[in-house]
Amino acid sequence: MTEVRSGDRLLSVRHVAVRYGDAVTALRDVSVDVRPGGIVAVLGSNGAGKSTLLRAISGVLARQAGRMTGGEIWFDDARVDGLGAERRVKSGIVQVPEGRRIFQRLTVEENLRVGRYGRKGKRDGDLDRVYGLFPVLGERRGRTAGLLSGGEQQMLAIGRALMAEPRLLLLDEPSLGLAPKIIDRIVDLLREIHRQGTAMLIVEQNAAVALELADYAYVLAVGEVAMAGPAARLRGDDRVRRLYLGGEAEQDPGGAPRPEAGAGPGEVYAEHTASNAGPMRGDAP
Ligand code: ATP
Repeated sequence: MTEVRSGDRLLSVRHVAVRYGDAVTALRDVSVDVRPGGIVAVLGSNGAGKSTLLRAISGVLARQAGRMTGGEIWFDDARVDGLGAERRVKSGIVQVPEGRRIFQRLTVEENLRVGRYGRKGKRDGDLDRVYGLFPVLGERRGRTAGLLSGGEQQMLAIGRALMAEPRLLLLDEPSLGLAPKIIDRIVDLLREIHRQGTAMLIVEQNAAVALELADYAYVLAVGEVAMAGPAARLRGDDRVRRLYLGGEAEQDPGGAPRPEAGAGPGEVYAEHTASNAGPMRGDAP
């Protein structure tokens, strides 16, 4: 491979393009990095390509008739974009899906055991860890998962992903449909999981939540990276505040700011392209 690898990147998505069928180009030339121990957020409006990016990383594009038409994905110095989804899980890339797709008819504990992905020989230490993080799941371990509240189902989905021992947890809209109080709890729990050593890539429409958690963030707009930079800097960026943090909207009909829109991509975008061209900068993920 000609790509220069760097030991300070856990995940490296390089120039990835994705199409669905022949007609829809969902991602063009997207590059995103997560360093070991990092929390990276990917923001963007409906249809920007956030879920597609996660599908490309976790290897489930084909289930949606999608495919990578360009680029490479590296995890821990190994190229993974040719691997099946299960192999990627075993290497440590584990996704918590959008919509908390848990097995509604199974019990809480059965759902968690399914998350082990064939790690049969293991003790119950992982279950204990999940129950330690989410005591409510321990209390409800025999309950049918479909009867849990929305927040509890989200916790179960995260817990199930933890059972596969991720080194990189991919989260698709973890705040979706949850009340603010529950979102705060999920954020605290994600912080604790991160503190225990798991890197994260979080896709969110709720930019406030994502930028609170992340140390570095990317903004996707119509399938391209429109901005990138340290989360603290994006929180203070006028365009991000206006478009994603509840300020006055200045969106196109598709709901997304185009990279070439307005006054230009600006300093943050320039910084992103610079970081793509060479070795990782000190403040990059
Ligand atoms: P949302 O939060 O609304 O899911 P998103 O940022 O995750 O938005 P994607 O779901 O990745 O965006 O969609 C990116 C583009 O790809 C959109 O134009 C969408 O219509 C298209 N797309 C997504 N999934 C499919 C699919 N299975 N078949 C065809 N087109 C798709």
